[in-house]
Amino acid sequence: MPATSSNKPYRVGRSKTGLGLFATKPIKKGTRIIRYFGPILDSRIPEQDEIENKYLFELNGRWTIDGSVRKNLARYINHSCRPNAESDVRPRERKVFIRAIKNIEPGDEINYDYGTDYFKAYLKPIGCKCVSCEAKRKKLRAEARAERAKVKARTERKVAKKAGPKASKKKKLNGHAVGKPNGGARA
Ligand SMILES: [Zn+2]
Repeated sequence: MPATSSNKPYRVGRSKTGLGLFATKPIKKGTRIIRYFGPILDSRIPEQDEIENKYLFELNGRWTIDGSVRKNLARYINHSCRPNAESDVRPRERKVFIRAIKNIEPGDEINYDYGTDYFKAYLKPIGCKCVSCEAKRKKLRAEARAERAKVKARTERKVAKKAGPKASKKKKLNGHAVGKPNGGARA
């Protein structure tokens, strides 16, 4: 795999959702990290318009980059809703660059936002696995757990209240029946 090239600030590595692109050197905010490249497809040519894969990068209504080629390591970059990079799309040059929008540290996974259309079509149905969405889900789960615990505690208190007087009444009754001195005399 041409994944690790020493002069490049990134490498392909394991991510939570499969493979991803990771920084191997500090990357300063604003730096062009990698070009997203591949054959340019023309939507006006039926054979090219028919090509379908998940690495198509639409430049505009007419031109699309087919990023499924092996040498396009940028295809390993995963989506994030709170990314550290962005796609710099230049339709007139028919080029796309991935650029850092934050300072990226070695070991960080490089992400960019794939955009609303991709999110709706591919990520929303299965649930986005990006760090930000996972954290949100974790928080929601914790809140739901806390709410369930609260409801449970409330219910238990109610049950205890209901059971309480009855139990004591019973005890009293028992005490009455057993403990009353003239109980036996009346019978
Ligand atoms: Zn997300």
